[in-house]
Amino acid sequence: MSQAATEEKLKQSSEKEKANLLGLSVSQLGDWVEAIGEKRFRATQIIKWIHQMGECRFDEMNNLSKDLRAKLEVLAEVKLPEVVSCQDSVDGTRKWLIRVDGGSCIEMVFIPERDRGTLCVSSQIGCALDCSFCATGKQGFNRDLTSAEIIGQLWIAADSFGQFGSKANRRVSNVVMMGMGEPLMNFDNVVDAMSLMLEDNAYGLSKRRVTLSTSGVVPELDKLGDVSEVSLAISLHAPNDALRNELVPINKKYPLAKFIESARNYIEKMPDSKRKVTVEYTLMDQVNDRSAHARELGVLLKDLPCKINLIPFNPFPGSGYKRVTNTALNRFRDILSAEGYTVTVRTTRGDDIAAACGQLAGEVNDRTKRQERYKRRLNETQPLNIME
Ligand code: SF4
Repeated sequence: MSQAATEEKLKQSSEKEKANLLGLSVSQLGDWVEAIGEKRFRATQIIKWIHQMGECRFDEMNNLSKDLRAKLEVLAEVKLPEVVSCQDSVDGTRKWLIRVDGGSCIEMVFIPERDRGTLCVSSQIGCALDCSFCATGKQGFNRDLTSAEIIGQLWIAADSFGQFGSKANRRVSNVVMMGMGEPLMNFDNVVDAMSLMLEDNAYGLSKRRVTLSTSGVVPELDKLGDVSEVSLAISLHAPNDALRNELVPINKKYPLAKFIESARNYIEKMPDSKRKVTVEYTLMDQVNDRSAHARELGVLLKDLPCKINLIPFNPFPGSGYKRVTNTALNRFRDILSAEGYTVTVRTTRGDDIAAACGQLAGEVNDRTKRQERYKRRLNETQPLNIME
């Protein structure tokens, strides 16, 4: 391309929106740098700058030529979502409120433990699925997050812990896609962001340390094993379709048998035969915590290589549910353990800052009007009748 033609192309591009390089996978960024007339290997250099060194300014990327840096300034940007606030719980849990394009805010949570640090990342602004026990669902839905807004959450956490430039003091060792939203309803962007989490030239997390949790979007789960090898968690919360239809409405479309078969197919695609699905079961007092439920769950899961994570329900205003009692929780766990399952109980973390599981709400500019309806019902009837 002649000098004049290149300048003309750059001029035209500068008049359009700049490309945000933050959320591009290695292959996407490779395509993009080739499209602007550069060698493909430049993509790896840029990815390392952004995701290993935490450098978002092109003029500081000193192994790129001056010409390329100048070109990047004109054509591209590395645009992060904006941190609005950051709260620390007494137990060390940290919650961020993050503003994304359009003005809505999402939340993300970091949970430190003795041997790991887990970041719980959001995939959508609100959630369209409206599970009856989930604060996010009550906020309604605005839109999917872009891959930049998803990976940007990991960038922000890594930056806040000073972990860029050194693997030694890495605090985020695990990522769970369990924040606001149903990740499989935002399939492409979630897959792109997870590829950067696993990418050696970016965050380099092991596929066992990145977990996608789904409430049962079966067609997308059927596709996931062809493009990703991350760990899988399934949000079950009920041992039969009648109860799950009440708690997790998407069950009416994709019932339990289909969901479990799809989860089994996913791990059968994995090269590592020892992989297990994590089954998440939120326990609510008098709703799904009876001995009969535990026995029914044991039968339901008998052909699925899995471990079971019991989650005591974390209340939020107007939910209409109560936390399981310790007696019922222990009984439920013991029945499943006696059946031979590995059962863990998730410790509630960060509930003093509303950061516990199921409590994330953010600030959603709700396009569904569900938030408005929920608030109206909350004012009219306290507590809500969950079966209405
Ligand atoms: S539990 Fe998950 S899928 Fe259900 S409403 Fe909440 S965020 Fe959405």
